[in-house]
Amino acid sequence: MKKGLVIKNTGSWYLVKTDDGEMVECKIKGNFRLKGIRSTNPIAVGDRVQIAPNTEGTAFIAEIEDRKNYIIRRASNLSKQSHIIAANLDQCMLVVTVNYPETSTIFIDRFLASAEAYQVPVCLVFNKVDRYTEEELHYLEGLIHLYTCIGYPCFRISALEGTGVAELKEALKGKVTLFSGHSGVGKSTLINAILPEQQLKTGEISAYHNKGMHTTTFSEMFPVDEENGYIIDTPGIKGFGTFDMKDEEVGHYFKEIFKFSADCKYNNCTHRHEPGCAVREAVENHYISESRYTSYLNILEDKEEGKYRAAY
Ligand code: GDP
Ligand code: ZN
Repeated sequence: MKKGLVIKNTGSWYLVKTDDGEMVECKIKGNFRLKGIRSTNPIAVGDRVQIAPNTEGTAFIAEIEDRKNYIIRRASNLSKQSHIIAANLDQCMLVVTVNYPETSTIFIDRFLASAEAYQVPVCLVFNKVDRYTEEELHYLEGLIHLYTCIGYPCFRISALEGTGVAELKEALKGKVTLFSGHSGVGKSTLINAILPEQQLKTGEISAYHNKGMHTTTFSEMFPVDEENGYIIDTPGIKGFGTFDMKDEEVGHYFKEIFKFSADCKYNNCTHRHEPGCAVREAVENHYISESRYTSYLNILEDKEEGKYRAAY
């Protein structure tokens, strides 16, 4: 038995990098039952596994180590089955733009809330700083101030011109990172700036993906350094999958709302109309931003209409 890291999932076989640096093609042996998840692919990139070599020079995956987190995607809107997309993420870089195209704060806050639920730390990467007007730059600084104060590290970058990319690269060292964000915000441009030698490969994956084969399970991790830092490439993945929660739990995933909620009169307060609500008072006194509170209410409203299934 050898231990290793799953770095590629083609849908039919897995590539495992063993702890002594070998690359081994693996299949699954036996049935993996995972707590609480009905999954069509029980193993994902980022999984730590034990493999048993067979006579054909390949190997079987015999065991998966416990995961610290994972992200899933539902097989389809009607299906209860989910695919595990990636496991053991150290962080997610959410690439956002103030304009060209605009990323709304509601979108950002929904993403952050679901990342909290999935226990994945997020950094905000504000891209295209080269294109903004003075007014847009001013708005950008306001957002960076807001999210930094809440506890989300922020980066100002231009993937096109290279501004701030070295600093971002520094933050990827030794970590497993997923890049997310609206289409058009510059993720591909940024990943190519970070991994110049991977340019072709990223294109190949997209082409492969577009053929429709194994589209739901294909994913791969690319090394960013010699210290187990990787970027995860998963075609078409935007959110963290689905999760259900009670109204009074939504506030747990807004860090600053959660902090103030300790002083609400009722401990199942939803911070809407209840008397003695410390969260509403904090909004009135500008300790909690209007935009964050609006996003919070927006999630609650969608829940009421039964719409709230995923981050986006
Ligand atoms: P993706 O859909 O998130 O992968 O976005 P792309 O990387 O395909 O970029 C979308 C468009 O934005 C392309 O035309 C890029 O050239 C452009 N773009 C990406 N980064 C920047 C940037 O930092 N500044 C400017 N001005 N344009 C950028
Ligand atoms: Zn309250």
